[in-house]
Amino acid sequence: MIQKPKNLAPANISENAELVLSKRYYRKDSDGNCIETASDLFWRVASAIAEEEKKYAKSNYQPEELAEKFYSVMTNGYFLPNSPTLMNAGSPLGQLSACFVLPVGDSIEEIFDAIKYAAMIHKSGGGTGFSFSNIRSKDSRVGTTGGVASGPVSFLRIFNTATEQIKQGGTRRGANMGILRIDHPDIMEFIRAKEQEGEFVNFNLSVALTEKFMEAVEKGEDYDLIDPHSGAARGTLNAKEVFDILVNKAWISGDPGIVFLDRINRDNPTPQQGEMQSTNPCGEQPLLPYEACNLGSINLSKFVIPNKTSDNKEEAVDWDSLKEIIHLSVRFLDNVIDASKFPLEKIAEKVRTNRKIGLGVMGFADMLFALELPYNSEEALQLAEKIMEFIQTEGHNASRQLAEERGAFPAFSESIYKDGKPLRNATVTTIAPTGTLSIIAGCSSGVEPIFALAFARHVMDGERLVEVNPYFENALKSCDLYTNELMDAVTNVGSIASFDFLPQHIRDTFVTAMDISAEAHLRMQAAFQKYTDNAVSKTVNLPNNATIQDIDRIYRLAYTLGCKGVTVYRDGCKSGQVLNIGSKK
Ligand code: UDP
Repeated sequence: MIQKPKNLAPANISENAELVLSKRYYRKDSDGNCIETASDLFWRVASAIAEEEKKYAKSNYQPEELAEKFYSVMTNGYFLPNSPTLMNAGSPLGQLSACFVLPVGDSIEEIFDAIKYAAMIHKSGGGTGFSFSNIRSKDSRVGTTGGVASGPVSFLRIFNTATEQIKQGGTRRGANMGILRIDHPDIMEFIRAKEQEGEFVNFNLSVALTEKFMEAVEKGEDYDLIDPHSGAARGTLNAKEVFDILVNKAWISGDPGIVFLDRINRDNPTPQQGEMQSTNPCGEQPLLPYEACNLGSINLSKFVIPNKTSDNKEEAVDWDSLKEIIHLSVRFLDNVIDASKFPLEKIAEKVRTNRKIGLGVMGFADMLFALELPYNSEEALQLAEKIMEFIQTEGHNASRQLAEERGAFPAFSESIYKDGKPLRNATVTTIAPTGTLSIIAGCSSGVEPIFALAFARHVMDGERLVEVNPYFENALKSCDLYTNELMDAVTNVGSIASFDFLPQHIRDTFVTAMDISAEAHLRMQAAFQKYTDNAVSKTVNLPNNATIQDIDRIYRLAYTLGCKGVTVYRDGCKSGQVLNIGSKK
């Protein structure tokens, strides 16, 4: 264990961050009392991850020096690894990845194995994704008993119940993704599975669409349903009718989402190892069966040079510091793979073969506020592309540097990168939702616009946090417009779109998720996707009065723009929303 230096600067975190960390992240004694502070936590993580450096003789870093650097980037809010790393690094559990995909075979043994493996992963704070597409359809024959099969949706229910019973090692409840191919004979039952509120609450469901299906939608043609067990056609459906029902369900409840399977597989870096059939729970990480991936996010709001006034907003981005943090973050995430203890040997093997990591961003909306760039502007889209291209390029450079020191990922010679310079990681970039990380770092989440300029946030166990956006507060104060009455009014509605007494530049800059058109949401997702190895977590928020045609347009546009999937959410369509506007709730 690397000794904690005496002169280490203490971690300076917000009240909200302290609340979140003390609930689920700090280590506790047998009576449930916290036995570490924020500084202890970040040192535990920094030192455990830097310790791995000792394995590599060619490293340019001393582990002690690296531990201090990792500590500093985390405590200064530049970068955070995903929650399981914060919770479990340097602890006996030692499972550090947020994302897993498990195969579900077409036999009772394989199905219940998957449930057991998922339980083990949930216990450690990871989320699991499954494709149910290999399970034979309802009412088809079961050879060994002569009975009839119950089909994917009935097994999905067992996965859901199992998840319900396992609280994640005292950390969080397991999140799941359930995927079914559009040409599975039980697809209609799957599309309707979440029709009743309260059904399958531990699952996000997504339908895997193929390009063949999308072409059939365009042409209004029928398409074949294929039984996965026999490979035989089991009837046909009209593609346009199925697509319309999908859109309708998404309009009613947001479920199911869609993923574009061919596009995901076109980016599969190791196609010789098989096809990707599922993503992790929030959709940002497509993985092969038994693969896991650890994520980390850079807080972009920290890379704006203060008081740099220029019409060219890119000049106000501190590219040099960003490059340094990208290289450190890639080293950190690669070390996480070595430090992690996986719940299953098969997973450990697979992870060490491809060494996937997922570096992404958070605080993008805050960065735009600091630069006074409206989220729904052409310049914001250009900046998004520029930043992600930079992270992708430098992230790959960092991974190549690591390959020189440590060797390429073992499957490199059979990967799509085999003709280029060796890489240490089969994938480097992913954009995560950063639901909790963004609270810890005190920034806007992922690449999302902010939900409201002032709002109440319900987090774990019914706790409620009230937050006012600090950039908004500063902007108002600098124009001498800040009053308590105004803040009350903003808290009630969340947005200032209708406050025409405020200056135009303030109303243009401080836009919220609800002020932005669905198309602008999606274009931002596509801008980030363009330079992301894996996928982008993004919700296309729609107002309550959005129409079914709006969703139809968004689904088709997501396909045309090259997104790997899309999730829509129409305001107010579900009770118990995580984020609520209004102070009176
Ligand atoms: N995740 C999970 N349970 C949760 C939240 C997240 O299993 O309650 C997993 C899931 O795979 C998700 C990933 O963690 O896609 C990243 O989510 P997020 O960025 O919100 O997690 P954070 O690191 O901020 O806690």
